[in-house]
Amino acid sequence: MVSRVIPVDDFDLVIFGATGDLAHRKILPGLFRRFKAGQIPATSRIIGAARTAQDDDAFRAEAEGAIREFGGVTGEDPQLAEFLPLLGYVAIDARGEGGWQELKARMRPGAVHAFYFSVAPALFGDIAERLAGHGIADDDSRIVVEKPFGRDLASARALNATLARHFDEHQIYRIDHYLGKETVQNLMAVRFANVLFEPLWNAQFIDHVQITVAETVGVAGRGSYYDKSGAIRDMVQNHMMQLLCLIAMEPPYHFDPDAVRDEKLKVIRALEAVPPEDIVRGQYRGDDADYLKDAEDPESRTESYVAMKVRISNWRWQGTPFYLRTGKKLRARTSEIAITFKEPPHSIFDDSGQPKANELVIRLQPNEGMNLKVMIKEPGPGGMRLVQVPLDMSFADALGPEGADMPDAYERLIMDVIRGNQTLFMRGDEVEAAWAWTDPIINAWEDSKRRPEPYDPGSSGPEEALRLMHRDNRRWREIRS
Ligand code: NAP
Repeated sequence: MVSRVIPVDDFDLVIFGATGDLAHRKILPGLFRRFKAGQIPATSRIIGAARTAQDDDAFRAEAEGAIREFGGVTGEDPQLAEFLPLLGYVAIDARGEGGWQELKARMRPGAVHAFYFSVAPALFGDIAERLAGHGIADDDSRIVVEKPFGRDLASARALNATLARHFDEHQIYRIDHYLGKETVQNLMAVRFANVLFEPLWNAQFIDHVQITVAETVGVAGRGSYYDKSGAIRDMVQNHMMQLLCLIAMEPPYHFDPDAVRDEKLKVIRALEAVPPEDIVRGQYRGDDADYLKDAEDPESRTESYVAMKVRISNWRWQGTPFYLRTGKKLRARTSEIAITFKEPPHSIFDDSGQPKANELVIRLQPNEGMNLKVMIKEPGPGGMRLVQVPLDMSFADALGPEGADMPDAYERLIMDVIRGNQTLFMRGDEVEAAWAWTDPIINAWEDSKRRPEPYDPGSSGPEEALRLMHRDNRRWREIRS
C-alpha cells in the first residue's frame, strides 16, 4: 500500500537555531526525507539563521554532516547533492539588529514564508518582534515554536501574549511532536472512522484507561536542565495530555483544526483536580544510575517518574479513571494506551471460567499497532472452556514496507506548516488550560515537604505506584517493549 505524496507549495523556511541540536537531529534530516519523497518543490529555500558566523557553503557542509549522521544517509546520494543547494544561511543574533535586512532580501515574494523558532523560548519574543519590525513577516507568514511552551500558566500566558503582539493565532504553530506521530493520529482514525468502538467508548463500557510512556534512558548529561522541569512538566502537561484528549474527546463535527482543538479543550477543562493521594512521584536511585547525581543536586525533589489517577468530569467519563504514568530509567522503552472494557454483566458459561474483560491496546512505540484481547473457546474437546486471545495487528505487517517507513513526526508537522494546516498543533488556549490544570498539582508538591519515592533503575517504577492501582483493585500493565 503506497501512500500518496502530495507536494507542498513553494516555500521559504527560515530555521532560527539552525546550528543547534534539534535542527541537526530532526529538522534538517526530516526536510531531506520529505525532499526525497518528492514533497518539497526544488525551488524552495531553507535558510539557516543563528549567531555563528558562516556562509552558505559552510552551512551546507554542516547540514550534510547532520543529515548523514541522523538521517541514515551513507555513501553517495544524488538526491542529497540536489537537496543541499536549497539551503542557505544568514548570521543573525536574535537580540541584535544585524542580518535581518539580508534575511529579508532572501525571502521570495509569492512563496509560503515560515519561520521555525528552534531556539530557547526566551528568544521567541525577540525574533517575533524583529521579524515584524523589519517587515520580514506578513499576515500570511507562519511561525513554529518549540516546547517547552512556558513552565506554568503565568509564563505560558506571557509567551502567548508576546507572540500575539506580532502574529495572529492562525499563524502560530506550537509543536507537540507527539501529535505528529502516525499512531497518535491513528487514535482519531480508530475512533472516528470505525463504527465498532465509538458506541462502547464511555463509562458504561470502559472500566479504565492506562496511558504509559516509559523510557529506559536517564537524564545523565542534561540532568541540571531536566531538574528544573521534571516528569509532569516535561511529559504530562503536554504529550500525555494530548493523548488523553484524543482518547477522551467527543467526535469533532469535522477533521478541521478548530473543530478538533475545541473538543480537546473541552476535555482539558473537564479534568478534575488531582488530590495528593492520587499521585505518586519517583526518582531512580541506584549504584549505576542515580537521579540525584545526574541532577547534580543531592537535595533535588524533582520527579523522574510520575503516576496519577485522573478523572474527567463529564457525562461520557463519569466513573472511568484514566491512569497516567511516565518515567525515566524504566524497564523498557514503550508508549501505549490500554483501554480496559468492563466485564460482561453475566456469564452463561458457568463451569468453564468467567469471561475476562476485553482490552484494546494501542501501541505508539515500538512496533506500532493495535491489540484487541477477546474471549474465544479453547480449541479441542473437553467442553466449553474459555480462553482470552489477542487479535494482534502490527501496522508494519498490515501496511507492508511503506507502512513500516512512517514519516517522522517532525517531517509531517513541518509539511503541515507549509500547507497551513494547524490540526496537529496546540492552540494557545489549549496550552493555557493544560497549565491551569497542572499548576495546582505542581504547586501542592512544591509546598509539601515530601520527597519522591525511590525506584530501582530498570524497574517498573516505585512500589507506591503499584499501590495506587491496587487500592482500586486494578493492576498496571507490565512495562515491556
Ligand atoms: P541548542 O542545541 O542549544 O541550539 C540552540 C540554537 O539557538 C543554536 O543554533 C544557537 O546557535 C541558537 N542561538 C542561541 N542564541 C541565539 C541568539 N541570541 N540568536 C540567534 N540564535 C541563537 O538547542 P536545541 O536542543 O536545538 O533546542 C532548540 C529549541 O527546541 C529549544 O526551545 C528546545 O527546548 C526545543 N526542543 C529541543 C529538542 C531536542 O531534541 N533538542 C526537543 C524538543 C524541544 P548559535 O550559538 O550559533 O547562535
